[in-house]
Amino acid sequence: MVDIKSMTPEELAVWLKEQGEPAFRARQVFKWLYRGAASFEEMTDLSKALRRRLEETARLTPPEAARKQVSQQDGTIKYLWRLTDGNCVESVLMRYQHGNTVCVSCQVGCRMGCAFCASTIAGKVRDLTPAEMIDQVLWTQIDSGAPISNIVLMGIGEPLDNFDTVLRFLTLVNHPDGLNIGMRHISLSTCGLTEQIDKLAQYELQLTLSVSLHAPDDETRSKIMPVNRGIGVEKLVEVCSRYFERTGRRVSYEYAMIDGVNDADWQADLLAKRLWGVPAHVNLIPLNEVEESPLKPSRRVAAFQKRLEGHGVTVTVRRKLGGDIDASCGQLRREAMKET
Ligand code: SAH
Repeated sequence: MVDIKSMTPEELAVWLKEQGEPAFRARQVFKWLYRGAASFEEMTDLSKALRRRLEETARLTPPEAARKQVSQQDGTIKYLWRLTDGNCVESVLMRYQHGNTVCVSCQVGCRMGCAFCASTIAGKVRDLTPAEMIDQVLWTQIDSGAPISNIVLMGIGEPLDNFDTVLRFLTLVNHPDGLNIGMRHISLSTCGLTEQIDKLAQYELQLTLSVSLHAPDDETRSKIMPVNRGIGVEKLVEVCSRYFERTGRRVSYEYAMIDGVNDADWQADLLAKRLWGVPAHVNLIPLNEVEESPLKPSRRVAAFQKRLEGHGVTVTVRRKLGGDIDASCGQLRREAMKET
């Protein structure tokens, strides 16, 4: 069975042509897929014979909303999607002034092992397919009625650990007949896989690369992010500078503030030193408490921000949305896993 929704329009055209279909058919089918058709039966402007043939040769994998939580505070919606094999992933709809944003997952679980993150506790189960990633955006849009203009790859999983799928996902959401979302409206967040950052740079995409830094010194970073061992902060920042030179896009550094771990003045000073002369933006994130982890949110966010600004670093503090629904990723899936 062909995973038809993971195909580009060009691939779809070739595949349909092999079956004797005219070229315009691909566009027709592609558009149905992005209108959210859950079966070939719904594609009413195709002949009955073609619809039957598609049913026999291709599969659609629409997810089912296993759970949905709506924030009473700010309209944030969190979805737990059940995939066709029974695995679950999460997406979050956030309503910002600059547009509705969906936070998308790219793997079932994660193998990166960051100490503060709920998504990695039970390891990685499998990669998602491009179709499974697209459907998170599409079904969030259909279910909520909120037109989606922005995407952040900050859900469950490490995007650069599922590189080819993520690249295909980006092509498809960006396509005018697909979701038509501009690259500048997409952020990709990574824990810092340097080889893959170099590889991504080759494509010169105009998306925003966010790097989860979380500590300026190797001792701390290696402790909370195993991926740092063998790479180190210095090399990571070097690779990110190279990324900027190649793509012209300033890298954004994420920094989750953890009490007594990465929030000291000397760490702000060292972070500023590391980023000296590097076009960068630092985004401080108040830590979301994860039940299984002893790490606590820092009480020094404002002081840390001020200290960085004193060194001339561009800093913002992430606004917390959906506080009443525990909207940070990975936690809903954990809850569901514990119950079954
Ligand atoms: N694997 C990617 C993307 C997924 S996580 C990455 O590491 O960047 C998206 C962001 O949320 C990352 O910056 C991650 O470090 C951060 N994050 C994970 N758990 C968190 C928590 N408990 N509190 C605050 N931020 C967290």
